[in-house]
Amino acid sequence: MIYDLIVIGGGPAGIMAAGQAASKGAKVLLLEKNNRLGIKLVITGKGRCNITNAEFDTKNLVEKFGKKGRFLFYALSTYTNKDIIDFFESRKLPTKVERGNRVFPVSDSSLDVLDILTDYLAKNKVEVRKNIQVKSIVTKDKEIEKIVLQDKTELKAKKYLIATGGKSYPMTGSSGDGYKWLQKMGHTIVDTIPSLTPLFIKESFIKELEGLSLKNVSINIYQNNKKIDSRFGEALFTANGLSGPIILDMSKNIGIALKNGPVKLSIDYKPSLDFKTLDKRVQGDFEKTANKQFKNSLGDLLPRKLIPLIIELSDIDPDKKTGDINKEERKKLLHLLKNFELNIKSLHGFNKAIVTAGGVHLKEVDPKTMQSKIIKNLYLAGEVLDLDGPTGGYNLQSCWSTGYVAGSNI
Ligand SMILES: Cc1cc2nc3c(=O)[nH]c(=O)nc-3n(C[C@H](O)[C@H](O)[C@H](O)COP(=O)(O)OP(=O)(O)OC[C@H]3O[C@@H](n4cnc5c(N)ncnc54)[C@H](O)[C@@H]3O)c2cc1C
Repeated sequence: MIYDLIVIGGGPAGIMAAGQAASKGAKVLLLEKNNRLGIKLVITGKGRCNITNAEFDTKNLVEKFGKKGRFLFYALSTYTNKDIIDFFESRKLPTKVERGNRVFPVSDSSLDVLDILTDYLAKNKVEVRKNIQVKSIVTKDKEIEKIVLQDKTELKAKKYLIATGGKSYPMTGSSGDGYKWLQKMGHTIVDTIPSLTPLFIKESFIKELEGLSLKNVSINIYQNNKKIDSRFGEALFTANGLSGPIILDMSKNIGIALKNGPVKLSIDYKPSLDFKTLDKRVQGDFEKTANKQFKNSLGDLLPRKLIPLIIELSDIDPDKKTGDINKEERKKLLHLLKNFELNIKSLHGFNKAIVTAGGVHLKEVDPKTMQSKIIKNLYLAGEVLDLDGPTGGYNLQSCWSTGYVAGSNI
């Protein structure tokens, strides 16, 4: 059997490309190494699947991917976030928009998203084979001749699409197989590094803060006393570090900086109040509660879990009456609230990274078709490309759009 198209990888990019090509009449075979499609898709958005981001200005959307985002302009304009929302809504999966323009299914279930995609493949008569691991790809005269499976079976098609994803969360099946084949075929693979990953912190005292979720904080990142990144939003203390949206979004820059030396971060727990205003507020609070012990007076100012540590680090006697706290002591407390410094030890690796930065060099792929400029009958889509966006549904949108463009052109 010679297929029009063989798609390798049953994640969001591969499924979208296979369904789209088949909807135009192509005879498509989709191969997936796991016994189920979309294993990573199911764990996205903590099982709720942040399908896309409702930023409807394509220019702003593109900017989220940094300089490399320019490559995506055509794909994001051709198959937009509105299109993918319509795709699901027209198939009876209503969506909702949450904080940061994050789009989720109203059902809060990524399994519903996968069901619709699976149905899309079936309706368009895509042949899906699971538990099939592609082992190698054979090329001749800059064209793919055939692919060889783990059990040595050989398969042929007129065209091929590699959508094997990146290297992150390898237990989901994305173990970087595509990079190896593509490098062998002559493609350049930009160094792959874990991105959107939590941090390990040097200070062991943060163990006390495990599980503490911070809202509306500002975090600055410093190297050699120079600010290298800064974000406002949500973060989360883990047993030995920090995670949460703003940490994940800064992790790539932190990873790059760590290669050059030590990196610090500073948390501002009260970013809406400058030092002077916060001092006035604390002074006012302490005057009102002049006979209360210091250890019982921070409840209105800080989350409960943070109070014992702040008291300890402030060196103020916990039993001291707030009325007796002097200016120096108050300044030290304020410093902890506005500039809570921690030393970054390292980033988590690919096992905990939401996406992989790096991948197939974008200069070697046509952004209007997703066709390889090196191998004639080869197309690429999704995370295997050298593209990575922040948290918020951007990475899946990149998969839907590149998958759609590849599928349509094939
Ligand atoms: C925990 C977590 C949460 C996330 N949450 C979100 C979110 O809410 N929103 C968002 O936008 N992004 C999110 N992402 C990122 C997003 O899931 C990925 O960017 C996206 O899944 C990439 O899609 P893909 O199709 O390119 O590759 P993948 O989803 O990685 O799929 C590739 C497929 O190829 C298969 N494969 C690999 N090698 C072979 C082979 N040799 N033979 C056959 N098959 C093979 C794999 O088994 C896999 O199923 C999250 C990621 C993680 C890890």
